[in-house]
Amino acid sequence: MIPVEKALAQILKGIKPLGTEKINILNALGRVLGEDITAHRNIPPKDNSAMDGYAVRWEDTRGATRKKPAVLDVVEDIPAGRIPEKAIQTGEAARIMTGAPIPEGADAVVRVEDSEKIGSRVKIFAAAEKGQDIRFAGEDVREGETIIAKGKVIRPAEIGMLAELGRSFISVRQRPLVAVLSTGDELVDIDQFPSPWQIISSNSYAMAAQVIDCGAVPLQIGIARDRRKDLLAKFQAALRADIIISSGGVSVGDYDLVKDIMHKVGNRMHFWQVAMRPGKPLAYGSMNGIPLFGLPGNPVSSMVSFEQFVRPAILKMMGHRNLYRKSVRAVLEEDLTKMKGFRHFIRGTVQYDKGRYTVSSTGKQGSGILQSMVRANCFIVMPENVISVRAGETVSVQLLDHSMELTAKPDYLQAAS
Ligand code: AMP
Ligand code: MG
Repeated sequence: MIPVEKALAQILKGIKPLGTEKINILNALGRVLGEDITAHRNIPPKDNSAMDGYAVRWEDTRGATRKKPAVLDVVEDIPAGRIPEKAIQTGEAARIMTGAPIPEGADAVVRVEDSEKIGSRVKIFAAAEKGQDIRFAGEDVREGETIIAKGKVIRPAEIGMLAELGRSFISVRQRPLVAVLSTGDELVDIDQFPSPWQIISSNSYAMAAQVIDCGAVPLQIGIARDRRKDLLAKFQAALRADIIISSGGVSVGDYDLVKDIMHKVGNRMHFWQVAMRPGKPLAYGSMNGIPLFGLPGNPVSSMVSFEQFVRPAILKMMGHRNLYRKSVRAVLEEDLTKMKGFRHFIRGTVQYDKGRYTVSSTGKQGSGILQSMVRANCFIVMPENVISVRAGETVSVQLLDHSMELTAKPDYLQAAS
């Protein structure tokens, strides 16, 4: 039996990021950028107007007020997308639209609200400062600058920026294909009717969903019976994948044969059993060099083990630098006890209220109580050396899902419903 931290270190040591692939930017959300993105032109490419109004020489508007306007000759009309043809001389102005290039000679824009057009002339009612309402060339993006660095996770803002730079295809880290296999003679698939001694293989679906949640691609291998031949055949089918995960068959029962597979020629078992609850029977090894996680069969154990070990491994393969769920310190609202020597991951509900987090357990914690996961939005992480924590004490909480980030009533909206 090895400690959680040691198990994690051993797993991650052997995981290398996958190669890159070129994809369309609209498919790149959540992916990790595989190249530095450099600007090949200034954006904006030319000085342009931030307002609808008049391009002027600022000195011509000096001292102008509503009572004593400056009067200028309007020599040109410049809509957005049109190249100015005339240079602005002293005493002249050009009508200009937002986004249109600033004509030569002009060095400020007076907004239309501060002007009045009379025939071919314009009255300017306010003095302009030099550079006023001009968006300067390169003020967003400067040619030659690295705008998005390799390793960054792509969000909508990055996609907008890539589009601004004219990049429709980019290099990103590949997504691992993760083979998902359930083992057990008692299992049937979801569309079969279970006899009273059978159960539906919920792990096949929970694990596949966890894979998808990481941004990886599940390869569903189905259910293997608790016989060497069937297990071997199913594991063989999994060899196309970048990672293999199985559930069940790693305990000490007569039919727990997954560990045997890891002992076959060409395969390897790095460790078996981790000092944690739930999830102690985890077996980790490799098959033809492909990392193989033998997760425990109990639905909660399988999900908790996935969270602690498989998720960071998948994220590392995808090129992520941040591999772990966020954690916060929260005030415990009930007394909890645990086993010494094991790290416990107690399913809990955490909330943020009046500047602090509070957390309580979801109740029954058996490793077959999948409801404990359904109700949970966090794990209360209880260290190995502790045997009890009292209500009011502070504990470390691993935030599990995105529900913490959404709320019906944010501070910045008065009347949110
Ligand atoms: P095992 O580790 O194979 O002894 O499995 C432990 C328990 O987990 C079994 O008795 C089943 O009740 C449950 N179990 C195993 N595999 C699955 C699965 N794929 N889906 C749901 N429950 C499972
Ligand atoms: Mg089994």
